[in-house]
Amino acid sequence: MSALFLALSGCGLPSTPDALPRSVVPGPATAAAPQGDGHITAGRGLDPFDTGHSAITGLDRRLLRAVREAATKAKADGVDLFITSGWRSTGYQRRLFDQAVTRYGSREEAERYVLSPEKSSHVRGRAVDIGPTDAADWVVRRGAAFGLCQIYANEMWHFELATRPGGTCPPQLPDATAVKY
Ligand SMILES: [Zn+2]
Repeated sequence: MSALFLALSGCGLPSTPDALPRSVVPGPATAAAPQGDGHITAGRGLDPFDTGHSAITGLDRRLLRAVREAATKAKADGVDLFITSGWRSTGYQRRLFDQAVTRYGSREEAERYVLSPEKSSHVRGRAVDIGPTDAADWVVRRGAAFGLCQIYANEMWHFELATRPGGTCPPQLPDATAVKY
């Protein structure tokens, strides 16, 4: 399995551009939800300063501020940082999870890669996936200065606010099945 496949599959992103059936109809939007379902078209991702996409406008304010500060600092180091996935609607996360169950054969195995809507921090606006690889690597090394931490050892692109700025990130979980609720 290639690193690229892992990178695209780990957070429930489609492994191929057509992995999300175009016939899938987004679920009904709730009153408070941002417009859209948070799906980001395949590509390099969104500029963290983009204000017109639900994947960004749905993020927790503190998390978004931290990502923007990190992006500015990374840029000064010559690294362009993009958000490849951010806030996701419950319906979008449900589709990703259902696809993973089909792909991996069981809910338990699927949850190593994609959490259900009830558990996913993307649905709560509390997680971002960052790309490309050099940008994710930059945040792995420097993110704690902004409170950003890699949470899962098998997802080096997925970050959450998990320490105070300048603090120490908690030990990584092996994968998402280790999440306790
Ligand atoms: Zn993620």
